[in-house]
Amino acid sequence: MEYDNFLHYSSRLLMADVLGDVYVAFSKLNSPNSRFTFTRDLLRKHKMLVKTLDVDMKYDHPIVSESLRQRGNELFKAKQYKKAVHAYTKCLAVSDSNTECYALALANRSAAYFHMSEYELSLKDARWAMVSNYPSRLEYKLYERVGNAERMLGFVELAMQDYAVCLSRLDEVDMSAGEKLKFRATVKKAAAECKKVLTGHKRTKKIPRADEQLVGGKNKNIPALSAFVELGMSKNMGRGVYATRDINPGDVVAIDEPYICGPISDNIEICHYNGCMKMGFALFPCPKCLLVSYCNKDCMNKANKDGHYLECPIMYFIKLTPGITRMNELAMKWFLKDYLKMGLKKYCSIVNNFSISKIDPQTRGFDETGKYKSDTFLTAYSLDSSENNVSIDILFFFNCIAVDMLHYLILSGFKIPECYISSVGASLVRILIVLDLNCRKLNINAPSISFEEKSQVTVVVALTLYPTISLFNHSCDPNIKRSGELSDRIRVMKAVQPIPKGTQLCCSYGVIFRGFVKESRQDVCKTLFDFKCYCEPCIKNWPICHYIPNRLSTLNILNPSMADIVSSECKKFVEFTKLVKSEDYSEHLNYLYSFIKLLFANVKRPFELYENCLEMITTAHTINSNKMYFGETFINMD
Ligand SMILES: [Zn+2]
Ligand SMILES: [Zn+2]
Ligand SMILES: [Zn+2]
Repeated sequence: MEYDNFLHYSSRLLMADVLGDVYVAFSKLNSPNSRFTFTRDLLRKHKMLVKTLDVDMKYDHPIVSESLRQRGNELFKAKQYKKAVHAYTKCLAVSDSNTECYALALANRSAAYFHMSEYELSLKDARWAMVSNYPSRLEYKLYERVGNAERMLGFVELAMQDYAVCLSRLDEVDMSAGEKLKFRATVKKAAAECKKVLTGHKRTKKIPRADEQLVGGKNKNIPALSAFVELGMSKNMGRGVYATRDINPGDVVAIDEPYICGPISDNIEICHYNGCMKMGFALFPCPKCLLVSYCNKDCMNKANKDGHYLECPIMYFIKLTPGITRMNELAMKWFLKDYLKMGLKKYCSIVNNFSISKIDPQTRGFDETGKYKSDTFLTAYSLDSSENNVSIDILFFFNCIAVDMLHYLILSGFKIPECYISSVGASLVRILIVLDLNCRKLNINAPSISFEEKSQVTVVVALTLYPTISLFNHSCDPNIKRSGELSDRIRVMKAVQPIPKGTQLCCSYGVIFRGFVKESRQDVCKTLFDFKCYCEPCIKNWPICHYIPNRLSTLNILNPSMADIVSSECKKFVEFTKLVKSEDYSEHLNYLYSFIKLLFANVKRPFELYENCLEMITTAHTINSNKMYFGETFINMD
């Protein structure tokens, strides 16, 4: 099963011998609110909801904790770092996390870890101390250590920033003038070394302009799309995006920001704040729940404003809910953000008025002024979710999860009048369904990283809901693709093939014809997204990779009078591919664009050189910058 603990609720009901009746009764209910109320009553009746949010908390013993810390300091002085870490850890276990002792123990442990060459742990503790009650007059020490640890780990840009903060804090420090001078010189020297490493590692691949512009400017009705496209309907695919003018490879057709986003796993450190999502390293944990992390205090404050302070006390419990934990977290984050923006009354009235049956497929997601904007609640909320095809057991499962999540929220002190409960609960179910289809299954455009520089294999690092990009249908031969820095939360989509006026713009939902046979492509489309693909490669059954024609002949040349020109250009292209390295493709984009245009007009596809050129354009459009720079100087650092 693709959901964790899918049987969590149903097995309990099965034991009580009521599951069959439950499914029968549940399937007869036809409003989302009544389904939620039914599920809530059921879980209550079978005592399946937790009674309290209390987890065993250790009490603070100020004398004990301070003496443990002092013991750690003695061991530290004796250079018994491992034992010192042990003493500090004991101290932390019995300290109240709001005390100075707690923050000092963290900072001390960070120093011990540093001496043990455990730089990652050292960095985490130091950053943790920074957001705890660490005395500000001593903070310069933490910044120096953070800088050193970052430097040892290869994050020289970050290290330079932290050294700068350290130096700026020195004036307020109680230290003799001579000592200060010496300290300042040491930090400056370390910062200078970082700078040297950074300049020695100039990026080889050119970075495209950061100010990418939509071709033709913004679309009047859908501002995240280009003015050269419009929405249209087709029998096979429903709503889709069509070119109103000829669009050229390289043209930017969409620039979209996620409505809501969050990290995809606990192992990847991404700032939890919805508007940031930068990847980091040893980020600052929220000092209260310790379960989410931020780049800095600014992001932390903004996230709290967006509602983290409400999810903070229940974060631990949300992480225990069955299903896709990260999706559940995202659903809660989404609800809280909009609840704080609109208030409960308005929120409930909007979600109650929303009804799937009333949705016109053509205008779905547009507001009353005729605009489709990615930052509008209803636009995101009404995204297609194949809701009519969600099976009863999954729908019931999502309802149970929503009951649990809302229950936690109420237990934590969230005030919600009884009359709003079913609306909020049902909205959480819908949010889960929308997220499941549009950002978990359809995650091809989500921020990603690659581990090896040259590898095209990328790993998704975030769940991201892009309302406007979701308007593009799938094709196994996509004519638009993501471009720019792949780990960015803002997603730029560019044409990779010529798109003549009237043609539909399509991206891939994860399968392209070169890599997968028709049956497996159709299978992915059907099982994950519930549609049948009618793209050209599927209809005409194009061959995959190895069997694609690689020579020009009367069979594939469309315009015989162009045969000589095309043939000589093809020879040039083959030479080009032998000479130019992949990291330099971006410097030859204009050449690649003109070659693909020539073939597009004159050669029947699939044709190997066309497909190769297409892949080279895609490679040139994307950047996967590796932020780690290592220098040999680090090995010798004290
Ligand atoms: Zn951030
Ligand atoms: Zn928190
Ligand atoms: Zn297809």
